[in-house]
Amino acid sequence: MKKLFLLLTLTPLLLLAQHTIALQVLGSGGPEMGDKRASSAYIVWIDGKSKILIDFGGGASLRFEEVDAKISELDVILLTHLHVDHTADIPALLKAAFFTRASGKLHIYGPDENNFMPSTEDFIERLFEDDKGAWQYLGDHLDGSARLQLKAHTIDDTRKIVTVYKQGDISIQAVSVHHGPIPAVAYRVNVGNKSITFSGDMNGDYHTLETLAKDTDILVAHNAVPKGSTGVAAALHMTPDIIGQIAQKAHPKRVVLSHRMLRTLGREKETLSEVHKYYKGSVKFANDKSYYKVK
Ligand SMILES: [Zn+2]
Repeated sequence: MKKLFLLLTLTPLLLLAQHTIALQVLGSGGPEMGDKRASSAYIVWIDGKSKILIDFGGGASLRFEEVDAKISELDVILLTHLHVDHTADIPALLKAAFFTRASGKLHIYGPDENNFMPSTEDFIERLFEDDKGAWQYLGDHLDGSARLQLKAHTIDDTRKIVTVYKQGDISIQAVSVHHGPIPAVAYRVNVGNKSITFSGDMNGDYHTLETLAKDTDILVAHNAVPKGSTGVAAALHMTPDIIGQIAQKAHPKRVVLSHRMLRTLGREKETLSEVHKYYKGSVKFANDKSYYKVK
């Protein structure tokens, strides 16, 4: 009887603690046209709701509707950096929000400024703010008058992992990564004891992703350049052996390779053998709309 009582008391608590979480790739491509892929974009589904977006490059808004994601369910957008192939469909998303029941605050996080890029707060103001925004007619999403308010947050450039968002069982951690001269951030989305980590575009020089992605369920790594890349390509992106070395140290349960480009498409076998030299776990190549449930 005592046991039954305990079971009945504990079961609701256990159920409360368990969330379903899944990664959906919206865009598995890079900036090229011709790869037949949307540019970089991902959803983290939490309990069946499209809660968190990571990047939103060109073509992502079409994929967003194809997978039945809802703007009204979104709480947070995480921008890994401000290149076009990671941000171009943000205005489309904000305009589309008008035709939905989306309301409250939609938080958008991204990197700090340098000589090449504005801060994330300046970037959003330059897009939408009254008087100076390119799409100033959407300025009511910044000034408090529209139902849905876009609230921009700039993450300081730091090689220490910081928690940028916390709401109930959801927390989001961020750290700077090296993407040539462009300020860039990698993110880890934690939901209860499950997590998905996003490298964004980076070349591995800061050695910060290894720690951020430690024992994560899924590491999404960008496969923008092939084996043997040098010069600008290798200054901006991880070669497959670097992805393998990072995965070996971070020890994720799975690696998903995305941001696939014409120079890496068709070289999957070679890429896989490079990664597997260091990391023996599961490696999958992402396509648009690929869906990975965290078990
Ligand atoms: Zn990119």
